[in-house]
Amino acid sequence: MVGRLRAQGITHQKILAAMSTLARELFIDEALRMRVYDDCSLPIGQGQTLSQPYIVARMTEVLLSASRPVQRVLEIGTGSGYQAAVLAQCGCAVFTIERIASFLAVARERHRALGLFNIRYLHRDGFNGWPSQALFDGIIVTAAPRNVPVDLIAQLAPGGRLIVPVGLQGAAQRLMLLTRTATSYTSQPLDTVSFVPMLSGEQF
Ligand code: SAH
Repeated sequence: MVGRLRAQGITHQKILAAMSTLARELFIDEALRMRVYDDCSLPIGQGQTLSQPYIVARMTEVLLSASRPVQRVLEIGTGSGYQAAVLAQCGCAVFTIERIASFLAVARERHRALGLFNIRYLHRDGFNGWPSQALFDGIIVTAAPRNVPVDLIAQLAPGGRLIVPVGLQGAAQRLMLLTRTATSYTSQPLDTVSFVPMLSGEQF
């Protein structure tokens, strides 16, 4: 998998090392384990998916390539816990929010089993971010809102990056990079992607 990520243009050593260290199969149902290193997204239950390895690596690389040191990172959409584990393995202090409580409990167990303790969890609708823990050096959203969630920019430190897929499921979605500046923010479209929708409200 890591050789393929390199061929796909991922160069960040910490990310390649993290993804070769972390057993991706621990985040996926046993029935799907033979597909776990394939270059495709995988179902994780309740209609949700874990992104293909390239997208996980790509989003992490964009996040960590900010002009400021990236320590505190907010993830919205914990899901299987894999993306949070990659960030933690890269040395970030991770704050992860999930609207489905059962996902959060399973992800926490997986992280504990792997000895990843620099992750904090919140069961909440992530549209409002995690104001009491702001500011963050980076924010990564792993479900797609219809519009760019500009309110989250206020929870970024200056120079910090927000990476978010935007658009309707099934239509062309675009990965967006928003960077907080001293007085405002800049916005840059990146890859075309396909994510499950970001939904309002909480679930158990
Ligand atoms: N990062 C995940 C992939 C998540 S799939 C992983 O590594 O496995 C998208 C996740 O976003 C789902 O678990 C879904 O429940 C969650 N989600 C969707 N809308 C949300 C919201 N408003 N707040 C928090 N989580 C949300």
